[in-house]
Amino acid sequence: MDCVFCKIINKEIPAYIVYEDEYSIAFLDINPINKGHILFVPKKHYERLSNMDLEYSKKFYESFQKFLKIFEEKISKDYNIIVNNGKNAGQAVFHAHIHIIPQYENEGYKKLFNWNTHKLNEEEAKEILEKFK
Ligand code: AMP
Ligand code: ZN
Repeated sequence: MDCVFCKIINKEIPAYIVYEDEYSIAFLDINPINKGHILFVPKKHYERLSNMDLEYSKKFYESFQKFLKIFEEKISKDYNIIVNNGKNAGQAVFHAHIHIIPQYENEGYKKLFNWNTHKLNEEEAKEILEKFK
């Protein structure tokens, strides 16, 4: 399979690996938003987190949480966690991964979240609620 993250996991191509266990690997994003931007990746190939089987996702989350504690200690207590699911959401690598993006000051946060929001109105809210019925 032609998957760049599988190649990193199999050590076929290099990466700046900062953490690895049986289920997960973490390495530096080659296009960091901020210094210390890390990708946390399941070793098994799933296109997105919602495809992951339950047993694997339990193990994966356990190691993710373990890594977050390491990240908080070594990189930054403040950070964003982002998952892009599908190409409309900006997913470019179709091997599930979690971006961990440290934030050192408010400017970095603004740079990342330049959201153009609107006030939720009743009609819109009801339309969405209907979908969950
Ligand atoms: P996404 O848009 O969520 O699919 O993000 C994919 C991320 O993977 C991007 O931020 C890329 O910079 C990063 N990336 C792609 N190839 C590599 C690589 N070989 N090593 C490290 N990061 C990579
Ligand atoms: Zn893969």
